[in-house]
Amino acid sequence: MVAKHKMYIGGRWVESRSGTWFEVYDPGTGTVLATVPEASADDVDDACRAARTAFDSGIWSKIAERTRARVLFEAANIVRRRRDDLAVLEVQDSGKPLRDALADIDEAAYILEYYAGWVTKLTGEVIPVGPEAMSLVLREPMGVVAAIVPWNYPFLMAVQKTAPALAAGCSVVLKPAEQTPLTALLLPEILEEAGLPPGVFNVVTGDGIHAGESLVRHPLVDKVSFTGSLEVGKRIQRVAADSVKRVTLELGGKSPAIIFADADLSRAVPGTCFGVFWNQGEVCSATARVYVEDKIYDRVVASIAQEAAKVRLGSGLDPEATMGPLISHSQKQRVESYIRSAQEEGAELVVQGALPANPALAAGYFVPPTVFAGAASESAIMTEEIFGPVMAIRRFHSESEVIAAANNSPYGLAASVWTQQLDRALRLGKALRAGTVWINDSQPAPSEAPWGGYKQSGFGRELGKPGLEEFMESKHLYLRIQ
Ligand code: NAD
Repeated sequence: MVAKHKMYIGGRWVESRSGTWFEVYDPGTGTVLATVPEASADDVDDACRAARTAFDSGIWSKIAERTRARVLFEAANIVRRRRDDLAVLEVQDSGKPLRDALADIDEAAYILEYYAGWVTKLTGEVIPVGPEAMSLVLREPMGVVAAIVPWNYPFLMAVQKTAPALAAGCSVVLKPAEQTPLTALLLPEILEEAGLPPGVFNVVTGDGIHAGESLVRHPLVDKVSFTGSLEVGKRIQRVAADSVKRVTLELGGKSPAIIFADADLSRAVPGTCFGVFWNQGEVCSATARVYVEDKIYDRVVASIAQEAAKVRLGSGLDPEATMGPLISHSQKQRVESYIRSAQEEGAELVVQGALPANPALAAGYFVPPTVFAGAASESAIMTEEIFGPVMAIRRFHSESEVIAAANNSPYGLAASVWTQQLDRALRLGKALRAGTVWINDSQPAPSEAPWGGYKQSGFGRELGKPGLEEFMESKHLYLRIQ
């Protein structure tokens, strides 16, 4: 039976005003999993009005900080209690392996707790301006936040934006990705049970152009927090400019991994494979272009091929599977077209893994891990975000050459460096133009530390204290005292 869901506006579960629905697919089998309301500008208007009314009433924005903190701590407890159900639904909706979905849910619970802790520790400043006056800086919530998220970490991304926005005292209208709305639709139940007043948090389900862009245009929205593609990020910035909305953009990447000859290969090889194949390669910070120092190049390419061949494709609920299907048929076609173009351009196909043997998965959106060596530096697989399990390896001769190659990208989200020389690690850490540089690791993004891009990977930061400040205004209060 296909489940029929409603969306959540002003504390009530509602259908869309137009009465239209859209289908959500299980990427493992290609079958319809659920239908959800297709929000239009009218529904978005309802949600923004509800959020604005709640914000202006002060039921959340002006309550005692410790009460606000308690609600978020309680929400973390409820997420933990519902961990297994949330994770299984996430697997069905997104295709990712269960253990990855469980890790996402655990981190989401922690993020709620982390920001709950901040609520009572947000202080202002007193600025010295001479004996006759006092300048106070107050931190105030920005207002109504439009949170627009992609499909690769559906619940985690929804919480990553909602938790700091609520901690700051804002109201939120969340728009999940149309491919993966199901776990985000459980968040209202969780927050309601935790004690969040109605109207403070709303979810509209719908596509990018009608639901997403109506949110960005809406005059009652103060801030847009967006995670998604570069193309849509640029468009959001243009649309938001009309009303000078505050915008945070977490966009794509084509992050480099650099393996020096002195690296500990027992860690560098699996770490680099994890950096590209984790979450089916549908990771903004995937270190998908790999530079290997000349002296160890052949050895590393052979070891990466062996490591990649260990990846097991299957249903996300199969405990043997280490990689699930891609999110959609169109994403599968897109990734396959990159693989074809790399072959046509003469890159050497080092390894391509096996598709799942189970006939029940024949219509699933699977693409096996694929490794190319020797691709031209300007080729599409070396320069464009593929968002799939495709690695491109090139050799390098010197440190200065590899720094230049790594920085030669419009993106700057992350980079990974494998070396045992401390001075080299620090030189690279400073020289690489990226929001995060991992030394002897790839992909950790602790929720206490800021996350975000240089260059066209976006601006603003999520997570850590900077992630909270994105939802607050600074107000200067000047008092003449003499
Ligand atoms: P996408 O840009 O197509 O969609 C993201 C969200 O934006 C969806 O909810 C979509 O409905 C909405 N949207 C689409 N058009 C819109 C419009 N005109 N106005 C408002 N909203 C609109 O991205 P995607 O394909 O869902 O996600 C993959 C992308 O996300 C990749 O580029 C990836 O790198 C990026 N990403 C970045 C980070 C990061 O932290 N930097 C994290 C995860 C994903």
